[in-house]
Amino acid sequence: MTDDATSEPDQQHNNSSEAQQVAIAFKTRNDQQTTTEYANPQTNHGAGAPIIDVQNVTKIYSSGNVRVEALKDVSLQVARGEMLAIMGPSGCGKTTFLNCVSGLDSVSGGAVFIEGTDLASLNDRKKTAYRAQNMGFIFQTYNLLPVLSAVENVELPLVVSGVSTSKARKRALEALDRVNLADRANNWPAQLSGGQRQRVTIARALVNDPAIVWADEPTGALDSRTANEIMSIMTTLNKEQGQTFVIVTHDAGVGKRCDRVIQMSDGEIVAEERN
Ligand code: ADP
Ligand code: MG
Repeated sequence: MTDDATSEPDQQHNNSSEAQQVAIAFKTRNDQQTTTEYANPQTNHGAGAPIIDVQNVTKIYSSGNVRVEALKDVSLQVARGEMLAIMGPSGCGKTTFLNCVSGLDSVSGGAVFIEGTDLASLNDRKKTAYRAQNMGFIFQTYNLLPVLSAVENVELPLVVSGVSTSKARKRALEALDRVNLADRANNWPAQLSGGQRQRVTIARALVNDPAIVWADEPTGALDSRTANEIMSIMTTLNKEQGQTFVIVTHDAGVGKRCDRVIQMSDGEIVAEERN
């Protein structure tokens, strides 16, 4: 993901990879205008249909003579409101899966439908707008902009989407409150602990009230007690707000707290277990 982000040619601001990842996720200013254009389902997407429908997806990375089949014919359906964990050893394709299914990266074969829409059918601008409005992202290394306060980081997706500054501030403070961090709203990331920074990231992922939250190793950089706390916040949000969570993790403790655990190995789904 970082590699893709750093290859963006038109970055003018802060050169850190965090800044670039945030910019990638939120870079459009045309979100509001495109809403109706992509609200056109490509499949029959009635109530009870899976919110995420992955059909025979393959992903091949090739550079020079090296060819990596990172996803091999992966199919998976995720129900609305489900909390799903994707587990498996390092290098088995978890991050690739998350990037391809969330539309951050393109697939080599197969199709992904999100709420009935084939993301590959959208151009980059519409895809980015769709993500900014309907998805939240939580990464292992918090991706907070160091020069912005906690509340400014959280309101970023709203500001970029054209929400008025006063409304954005109000919603950002509410989101920080949901992760019990309202009292640190004016602190910079450097003044916060790892767990607190990850809570800011969660608040930012939720501030747009997205249907789906994608998390890649959200507890990977945290001690086990803090990791547990972060998981409690995410499970509470999942239960109370009904958001769908897809969480990539190698932490079995995280998997146990999800509704379903998918095991991947060498680019394939090899097992599935419901808790
Ligand atoms: P995981 O997240 O499970 O550790 P990844 O999805 O990052 O695994 O990687 C799956 C496989 O794809 C690995 O063999 C990795 O080396 C390869 N891979 C990932 N990203 C790229 C890339 N941008 N270019 C080439 N190979 C890649
Ligand atoms: Mg990974």
